[in-house]
Amino acid sequence: MKTNAFALRHIGPRATDLQHMFDTVGVKDMDQLLYETFPDKIRLEKDIVLDPAMTEYEYLAHATALGAQNKVFKSMIGLGYNEAIVPAVIQRNIFENPGWYTAYTPYQAEIAQGRLEALLNFQTTVIELTGMEIANASLLDESTAAAEAMALLFDVRTRDQKKNNVNKFFVSEEILPQTLSVLQTRSTPIGVELVVGNHETFNFSEEFFGAILQYPGKYGQVFDYETFINQAHSKSITVAVAADILSLVRLKSPGEMGADVVVGTTQRFGIPLGFGGPHAGFFATKEEYKRSMPGRIIGVSQDANGNRALRMALQTREQHIKREKATSNICTAQVLLAVMAGMYAVYHGPQGLRRIANEAHAKAVTIETELTKLGFEQLNDSYFDTILVKTDAAKVKAIAEAKEFNFYYVDANTVSISVNETISLADVNSVISIFAEVAGKSFEAITEFSQEALIPVKLERTSTFLEHDVFNTYHSESQLMRYIKKLERKDLSLNHSMISLGSCTMKLNAAAEMLPLSNPNWNNIHPFAPADQTKGYLTMLHKLEQQLNVITGFAGTTLQPNSGAQGEYAGLMVIRAYHESRGEGHRNIALIPASAHGTNPASAAMAGMKVVVTKTTAEGNIDVEDLRAKAELHKDNLSCVMITYPSTHGVYESSIIEITDLIHANGGQVYMDGANMNAQVGLTNPARIGADVCHLNLHKTFAIPHGGGGPGVGPICVAQHLVPFLPTNPVIKVGGDNAITAISAAPYGSALVCLISYGYISMLGADGLKQSTMTAILNANYMKARLSEGYDVLYSGERGRAAHEMIIDCRMFKAKGIEVTDIAKRLMDYGFHAPTVSFPVAGTLMIEPTESEDVAELDRFCDAMLSIRKEIEAVTAEDTNNVLKNAPHTLAMLTAETWEQPYSREKAAYPLEYVAENKFWPSVRRVDDAYGDRNLVCSCAPMEAYMEA
Ligand SMILES: *Cc1c(COP(=O)(O)O)cnc(C)c1O
Repeated sequence: MKTNAFALRHIGPRATDLQHMFDTVGVKDMDQLLYETFPDKIRLEKDIVLDPAMTEYEYLAHATALGAQNKVFKSMIGLGYNEAIVPAVIQRNIFENPGWYTAYTPYQAEIAQGRLEALLNFQTTVIELTGMEIANASLLDESTAAAEAMALLFDVRTRDQKKNNVNKFFVSEEILPQTLSVLQTRSTPIGVELVVGNHETFNFSEEFFGAILQYPGKYGQVFDYETFINQAHSKSITVAVAADILSLVRLKSPGEMGADVVVGTTQRFGIPLGFGGPHAGFFATKEEYKRSMPGRIIGVSQDANGNRALRMALQTREQHIKREKATSNICTAQVLLAVMAGMYAVYHGPQGLRRIANEAHAKAVTIETELTKLGFEQLNDSYFDTILVKTDAAKVKAIAEAKEFNFYYVDANTVSISVNETISLADVNSVISIFAEVAGKSFEAITEFSQEALIPVKLERTSTFLEHDVFNTYHSESQLMRYIKKLERKDLSLNHSMISLGSCTMKLNAAAEMLPLSNPNWNNIHPFAPADQTKGYLTMLHKLEQQLNVITGFAGTTLQPNSGAQGEYAGLMVIRAYHESRGEGHRNIALIPASAHGTNPASAAMAGMKVVVTKTTAEGNIDVEDLRAKAELHKDNLSCVMITYPSTHGVYESSIIEITDLIHANGGQVYMDGANMNAQVGLTNPARIGADVCHLNLHKTFAIPHGGGGPGVGPICVAQHLVPFLPTNPVIKVGGDNAITAISAAPYGSALVCLISYGYISMLGADGLKQSTMTAILNANYMKARLSEGYDVLYSGERGRAAHEMIIDCRMFKAKGIEVTDIAKRLMDYGFHAPTVSFPVAGTLMIEPTESEDVAELDRFCDAMLSIRKEIEAVTAEDTNNVLKNAPHTLAMLTAETWEQPYSREKAAYPLEYVAENKFWPSVRRVDDAYGDRNLVCSCAPMEAYMEA
């Protein structure tokens, strides 16, 4: 390998480390390790073939050249996507900063206070602008958020006895087309019947449990929904409103009109278009629905000293607890984008947001005024930023595209024009000139915007918003830069130390993979831009699909799902469509092993399947006989099995082919959860083990950063017979010939970040990928060997080896009063983020080092774990005042006047030598989860409000 090969930057261990690692593991070489790890019968016969690996330098040039094939026109298409100005201070200090983008989901609250605060700002922004009581810390996009709203309203309908058997949901025809498509997908399997119509003529009847409206309507008309909502409520029909977040600065909020749920996207709060994503969807509702709310809610609580501390609230209702009773499968969300959108609100504050909204309105009014002068008819009688013009659409299109402008062409005689933050006076003049040309008239350039407001008085927002200090303090760049840094310093990310999260695969997110994302040729493209403007994207996305086809051994891929769980859902819906196409639509049983990730049964339930749980053996493997018995019992109705491979226990089960065969023999399809694909790439693949469809987590295996809990991309790859069913989009046709309706809003989901995975695969090439997989296995087995000095590894393969991750058992320490959480918190004092806690087995830690960690880092982590093991040895169950129970230790605690612990300050904070060199200080002491759940506060209300609660 050349010394400038990207693989040598991506992979941690050096060639000179290998012998020591093999010796520690107890093997001669990599071949022997693989032999002892990997069932022969699933090895690929031939290595996969991809284009030769590019160096980082070559890739950057390639990405620039490819990007140049995208044409950045001024986008005035709207339809839920509006070009926004990403404040440079946010772009540089968050979007391009590994301190933010490499963080994990904030499960370990004590080392995540920074992003928790940023997310609380996001929630507060959403709550106040929508006029609702609570909000979550993001959903995947507006359309899926709308589907979540429908699911919530369907779920809570039974609180009203009369509604028990009611299944109709009214959808206003003003809804965005992509949202309608996602609602169609999501309604059918759960038994909801959609009725699409005009809200002004809707006949309120008891047969409906809920309704959804778009505010403003899809082409900009602003409706007053108050009467509709009141009438709906009088028939016990609950109402969701999909709202444009910026319009709410000017318009009366849906909350003030009585809405039960408000959803939307925060894209136009400083997030790049990115050809459709990633952007943070939002979801706000009433207090009374908090326990049915999808996604993660950030709440205020307190730490062991009674100081304010944040953490994720109401964890008990997360999908991994509810499993097949879940109504949502949201796991990965859009945290990084929510952080950015929240920061946009912090930076601009209420006054800045008012200016931006007022200007958008003024520009739209100006365009209307001038177009009317030119003789055009504008159809919206009240609007915020979007006008609808009667004209010859084809003629407008030709002239507009020549001037590099995109509008939305509703039909042959109607054009919709959406104004956004970036539209300048010159742009407004260009728009007018386009229409002057269409009209064949001359036009005089305007020099200022109209001051007229075309929002009816009763729809004007009169309530205040964002009055909290945080939105009124950081308005200069120095202030915001330091605020962002202050938060960043509280968070432990991959730029401090390894994050060995089993199943979640936190590997290097290389700078070369990330850099092209900042290029406007990539990030400033509207998802509904015409195809001749998006050639670079289409080429990149199709190449990535090809690469993933090769890697999985499958025939087709869709990149549309925005997370792994969305991929699961997409895959199951494709299976469902396949059975239906063969007249076997009755097949609805999903077999799922007990050890499955919680999203598996949740996704199956959402896809209308009945979950049958199958047993796990004492060795942690799938109980093949139990599976066989259940597959045979249900053979007439078997839809599929969902299996994770290698298993969530970190083992390559050798019975896998027998398992997939027996499912096929009973008429079922095999869904492989690809979260552990990092242990397969280049060595085996889902097609080889007999699967029909799998999802991949591009944010795990393929180097997209976790962003503190998103973005994610969860493509599904399918065998030939399932290709026709891959999902489409109603605006831009994608997917198979017999496509299911949309899974996500945008045709290619979070296209912008797909570029990261494309870079990863292109720079590693087939060899580098295989090398990565083997190194991930070596690193895991090296740690297993070292850790077995102090811990029991719960499951191993037949020859005693782990796959790419392992579970260590911490349950025996309970006798000494030590819980697995104590170990997780004590690791913080050593500068480490805990591995996965209590998944898939309660009371254990699941460790996955990945290939990107070098031996020195693996050793530091193992040293920490072994040192903690000694600390456990030293404690007694009676004495709870110990270094584990008190962990993590803060700087404030260490520097306090008094120190009353029975151990030294040095032992508390500097337990090993390496720690002193690079100390990370948790910013709060142990957070009290129960306290916060009893007193749920999820906005940055003043401290007093929180004390009273
Ligand atoms: C992460 C994970 C998922 C869910 O993926 P998201 O992208 O978080 O939705 C599903 N299954 C397994 C085994 C996982 O580790």
